[in-house]
Amino acid sequence: MEYYFTQETNFFGNTNPRELLDKYGSPLYVYNEMILRKRCREIMELVDYQKYKVNYSAKANSNLHLLKIIHEEGLHADAVSYGEIYVLEMAGFKPQEILFTSNNISKDEMELAINKGVTISVDSLSQLEQFGRINPGGTVAVRFNPGKGAGHSEKVITAGNNTKFGIHPEYIPEVKHILRKYNLRLIGINQHIGSLFMDPKPYIEAAKSILSIAENFESLEFIDFGGGFGIPYRKQTGEKKLNVKLLGDQLTSLIHDWVNKHQLQPTFLVEPGRYIIAECGILLGTVHATKQNNNTTYIGTDLGFNVLLRPAMYDSYHDIEVYSNNGALIKDNERINSTVVGNICESGDIISRNRMLPPVKEGYIIGVMDAGAYGYSMCSNYNNRLRPAEVIIDKNGSDILIRRRDTFEDLLRNFTTI
Ligand SMILES: *Cc1c(COP(=O)(O)O)cnc(C)c1O
Repeated sequence: MEYYFTQETNFFGNTNPRELLDKYGSPLYVYNEMILRKRCREIMELVDYQKYKVNYSAKANSNLHLLKIIHEEGLHADAVSYGEIYVLEMAGFKPQEILFTSNNISKDEMELAINKGVTISVDSLSQLEQFGRINPGGTVAVRFNPGKGAGHSEKVITAGNNTKFGIHPEYIPEVKHILRKYNLRLIGINQHIGSLFMDPKPYIEAAKSILSIAENFESLEFIDFGGGFGIPYRKQTGEKKLNVKLLGDQLTSLIHDWVNKHQLQPTFLVEPGRYIIAECGILLGTVHATKQNNNTTYIGTDLGFNVLLRPAMYDSYHDIEVYSNNGALIKDNERINSTVVGNICESGDIISRNRMLPPVKEGYIIGVMDAGAYGYSMCSNYNNRLRPAEVIIDKNGSDILIRRRDTFEDLLRNFTTI
């Protein structure tokens, strides 16, 4: 049985890929509001505990309009730069709804966040010292490295022995020393073990580690388990979604056990990015050429890695759908082994390798599934290409432009006259 995500979800509402590209240009990011809201609600209901909160990790996608929807659904946010704090505020998030999980930030950036009233989580002893010098007597959070990581690629495993992130628990005495030295109050601890786990186990194990780290500190107002919740990128071949019910039940019982044992009631947080935003986004592009090269059929598109970096950066897999010239989904049984490439002058510019896809012609449309997370947010103007527009299909099935496409003038925007 064949599975087509856009058909299953009525993804494009009252419109179709042809109309969308004609209206907004190709390539194009398209988001579906109902899918986004559904994912938000699933995570908001994950844990049954009164002081449970969700911080959306804004780096996965920080489109202002999508952030507004996420905020409407009651999520707070996790920022990794002052730029994200700035955009989050514009989307309606209050400073006290943002946690800045910083990494190697300058004194200036730290000061901006402190003045804004955003809680900062520091992730090294030297950054804790810097915080103390700038803001003695202040409140701060610390990111620990629970000693074990998880993720879909070396590049996104953010705990364990081979990563730059977090403070190892063996340095707890030093942390306490610095807290005392600057009269700081540690109000929270967090961790983030990595991105894209499909089995609850490593997350639960890491949650246990941070709960035991928490026993070393009094006055904690929050304990943050981090993000990394995976989504099935291979739906067409039957990959199942993360068992959020199981994960939620396990987290809930861990939390209640801890609360009962310690007679404390801190806020508990999770920090997902991808899970919230990946599946509501699809990247559309146009086929401009096809060719045979040494037994490989290449489908040449405008989907360069400046538009979607994940496959080139992490060897990531995205399901592909093909639409004909008129925007209709192609479901022919005929399949050809094809490699979909972009228009960037590098041989690593490949969206998908050796896939059995319907035969395509010039003018056909390629849909890259699950492109909402780490898609637009990693776009660039490499090769002086224009970053695409972003469109949302709202709850009535109508398409609304939420970010315009770059113009050629944008390419000149920051140049000085000399
Ligand atoms: C990136 C990041 C996340 C979100 O990761 P996902 O895999 O998108 O859920 C959460 N917390 C921190 C600190 C991060 O850097």
